[in-house]
Amino acid sequence: MTRQSPTARHPKKTSRDDSRRWNLLATLQTVAASGATSRADIARATGLTKASVSSIVAELLDEGLIHEIGTAPSDGGGKPPTLLAIHPRGRDIVAVDLSRRPIRAALVGLGGPIHHRVSAPEPGVTGPAALDAALELVARCLDRAEAPVLGIGVGTPGMLDPDGTVIEATNLDWHGVAVGAELARRFGLPVSVGNDAHVSALAEMRSHPRDSLLLVKIGQGIGSGLVLNGVLHTGDRFVAGEIGHVVVDRDGAICRCGNRGCLETVASVPAIVERAAGVKDPDLPWDAMALAARFGEATVREAIDVAGRAIGEMLATAAALLDVTHIVIASDLANSSEAIVDAVERSLTAGIHPSSVGHIEVTAASARSDLVLAGAVAMVLRDELGVVLR
Ligand SMILES: [Zn+2]
Repeated sequence: MTRQSPTARHPKKTSRDDSRRWNLLATLQTVAASGATSRADIARATGLTKASVSSIVAELLDEGLIHEIGTAPSDGGGKPPTLLAIHPRGRDIVAVDLSRRPIRAALVGLGGPIHHRVSAPEPGVTGPAALDAALELVARCLDRAEAPVLGIGVGTPGMLDPDGTVIEATNLDWHGVAVGAELARRFGLPVSVGNDAHVSALAEMRSHPRDSLLLVKIGQGIGSGLVLNGVLHTGDRFVAGEIGHVVVDRDGAICRCGNRGCLETVASVPAIVERAAGVKDPDLPWDAMALAARFGEATVREAIDVAGRAIGEMLATAAALLDVTHIVIASDLANSSEAIVDAVERSLTAGIHPSSVGHIEVTAASARSDLVLAGAVAMVLRDELGVVLR
């Protein structure tokens, strides 16, 4: 997860600026967390003096990040307090999802709803054409912006380096593509780039705030995103969560990485579809219901079971290592969430200490097809404002 800023780095800020910024963020976070709050409540929640809160609120109002939304009933006959909330259209954000076909982008306000969507005309663009398509989508979203744009967030499959360069993304046929730098250069805006599974975990944290969670994304490949104590864990080499190529069956099918029996060969969407259909056919729909109509419900259920079992076995190890109790499954196979969650849960439960059973919750991701877009937005909010807005 990385950030490209088109502007020169500021000289080192003074500690006075730092504390002012800290107080701004604390205030913004308090307003975001409460939905609607008064200046007095902000002072109580942050420990700042009323005078400081007044000055900070004035700055945030002036910036357009928050707005006044009426008054609360007065407490003890005094002047009713004015309520403050995040301004849903105080800033716009451009979110890009490179993990789906066709690649897509959206213009999103601070409040979360998508104001405008665009997708590439060709479903399967790869290589330089995919980068051109992404640039074009961002330009089209920026044309529709009605507020200052906070930044551009990109969720991409594959491995990244800390500068926002995609080192390797087989599905896009990208090898060393500096997507972050390219977007920053072209549009002069801050750009945040994150792995699709990582940003999906951020999106899930935004919709269901928790201390920790582990999200597994099942798509063309398999990735995961781990949030520990509220912070996305990216790892020493920035590739934390790349579980798709952990070998789960040494005698299994040859994987595109060269090894045999990687998790991806058993539990990715193409692997599930192939097992259900009994044939490799890239034109088959990524939809469990459509597959069941064609190949029988029992066959599809069995293919999903095999995938869920393999994922659940791996998650048992992860859950024991990390003591993460919230596991979220994001599947790109339509109409499969319930069956996959069920299979993962059964396998996980069978693989952990009996005393842990009942403490680990496995759920389906909430934002479904917009998960990566929502994650790209969450990443920009985190990088540019330093807050997780709900
Ligand atoms: Zn592999």
